[in-house]
Amino acid sequence: MTAIGLVAHDEKKAAMVAWVTAHRNILGSFRIFSTGTTGGRIREACPELDVTPLKSGPLGGDQQLGAMIAEGRLSALVFFIDPLSPHPHDVDIKALIRIAALNDIPLAVNKASADLVLAGLKA
Ligand code: PGA
Repeated sequence: MTAIGLVAHDEKKAAMVAWVTAHRNILGSFRIFSTGTTGGRIREACPELDVTPLKSGPLGGDQQLGAMIAEGRLSALVFFIDPLSPHPHDVDIKALIRIAALNDIPLAVNKASADLVLAGLKA
């Protein structure tokens, strides 16, 4: 089963929940791995989805997702970033984006690109 990573910064969590809810049918055919808080919010909104929450992003969840990508275990990463706020775990965020780029997996950082990644995965 295809596995994807979903992460959203605090100011983007509502947008992530709305995006997942809008695409719950197609996302139902994937395994989802998320940072802790994002995963909890997704589960609450769409309990039927196969979501595995990892540690919260600032506590190592981004690094856990990065390790999964390095091991070839994720087919895509959708990361709704908040470009207007500072983040204490900025180095982890950069590392996650870097490892996704290095491994050449589809990487979306906002809703518009997430729509395209999902359309590609669906095809
Ligand atoms: P969170 O982590 O889902 O646990 O809030 C996201 C992040 O990296 O900020």
